[in-house]
Amino acid sequence: MSPEGPEDVGREPPDMAPDAFRDAAHRTAEWVARYRETIEKLPVLSRAEPGEIAALLPVAPPEEGEPFDALVDDLDRVVVPGLTNWCHPGFFAYFPSSSAPPAILAELVAAALNQNAILWRTSPVATELETRMADWLRQLVGLPPDFRGVIQDTASQSSFTALLAAREAAGVDARVRGLTGRDDLPPLRLYISDHGHSSLEKAAIAAGLGQRGVRRIAADRSYRMHPDALERALLEDERAGIRPVMVGATIGTTSTASVDPAGPIAELCEAHGVWLHVDAAYAGPAAMLPEQRPRFSGWERADSIVLNPHKWLATPVDCSLLLFRDPDPFRASLALTPEYLTSDDEAEVNLHDYGLSMGRRFRALKLWFLIRWHGAEGLRALLRRHIAWAEAFAGWIREDPRFTLAAPPSFSTVCFRALGPGQRRPAPDAPGAFDPEAGGEEADALTRRIMERVNREGRVFLSHTALGGRTVLRLAVGSYLTREEHVRGAYEALDRAWEALVGS
Ligand SMILES: *Cc1c(COP(=O)(O)O)cnc(C)c1O
Repeated sequence: MSPEGPEDVGREPPDMAPDAFRDAAHRTAEWVARYRETIEKLPVLSRAEPGEIAALLPVAPPEEGEPFDALVDDLDRVVVPGLTNWCHPGFFAYFPSSSAPPAILAELVAAALNQNAILWRTSPVATELETRMADWLRQLVGLPPDFRGVIQDTASQSSFTALLAAREAAGVDARVRGLTGRDDLPPLRLYISDHGHSSLEKAAIAAGLGQRGVRRIAADRSYRMHPDALERALLEDERAGIRPVMVGATIGTTSTASVDPAGPIAELCEAHGVWLHVDAAYAGPAAMLPEQRPRFSGWERADSIVLNPHKWLATPVDCSLLLFRDPDPFRASLALTPEYLTSDDEAEVNLHDYGLSMGRRFRALKLWFLIRWHGAEGLRALLRRHIAWAEAFAGWIREDPRFTLAAPPSFSTVCFRALGPGQRRPAPDAPGAFDPEAGGEEADALTRRIMERVNREGRVFLSHTALGGRTVLRLAVGSYLTREEHVRGAYEALDRAWEALVGS
């Protein structure tokens, strides 16, 4: 006699039969292919007004399921109008982030496999492939084999994890004792330059150092951290009983892509026993190019390094590589395995020990597809072209008296300003050729109006920053679909905007 089942479990939940799945997958793939093919016809920046997309969405979820075709149709009706098209070839704002076809397809596979790489045994392949992909990237950027890596979602998470490790390495024992109700704990400090990324400041907030625990070190005229200023700060703080926990050096700062001198900073960190973290979230991939490698000199002395394949390496968000030498402080800060996940196998690498998340996506698959399909040579070609086109753009700006370079072009990033008629700029060859203040307030206003006009036109998207309190435009080349004509198009859009606003 077999046991009886429960009386009534209601209707069958819908399931997509294999052939229906196949059709739906083809339809979706076709939609994606067409999106990529026609992306240039779309404005880079969404033209939606706030609330416009929400108004297209039913307020309540549907009670009855809908046909799959209706879902795909709504990609055009609802999704496309609300897109800021990050993969658009005219995307030059912030730092571009785009997705290459093999990596897009790997994401489909990763979703189907739905691996959760908590422990080795919860996904041997996601664990071992991630470890190998981290090592492939390490080799590609020329770092020594004593670095190992894990893949995190974002650079923010990578830097935060590194700060927690640095805090343990500095003997704080926050893991066991916490940070509250202690009278033995001196103030803790993180040092970054004026141009260090906000994610490090956020990490300091979350790690209990607080915003007051972040000491901003003055940068020189080329926006690089001043090692002398760093040394003075370390000495002053040590004398005052403050404990330095981490120095965050940036290779490729957010405003100008400037490069903090990692070698001299590493020297100071070693002398003072302070953890060195290198934030190369944007520029890191450029270390794959032998001709750019000297700009990274000294980063091999860091304790931890972050670089984002999801920024300048055509990998869909999210994918950030955290490299480090010594796993112990990472494990000391966060490794914690609940009883139900324990096992006796000593040889296992358990990736959840290296971050806050227990559940971890199968992110290595997209890197595996990306790197194998392009080959190292293909990826280097991509980066090399972006840098060459940015340099060409800087050359056009240099030749054009209506504009002026505001900072030395760096990697694939160019900072510049517009000038009004008759406004003087520094001679392109003069020592002060990069003057963010040329043209003063009047040029600020014009620069902003030009940016707004160019962005409204929709063919390219540029963003701005502030240097010396002045408004500066940025062009960062880094999108997978960008070609030289699009970079030229950015210059032509600037030319049109200047003529429309100022010209006769
Ligand atoms: C983009 C960027 C970050 C933040 O990266 P997320 O992955 O979005 O957290 C941090 N530092 C630098 C230098 C960056 O360019």
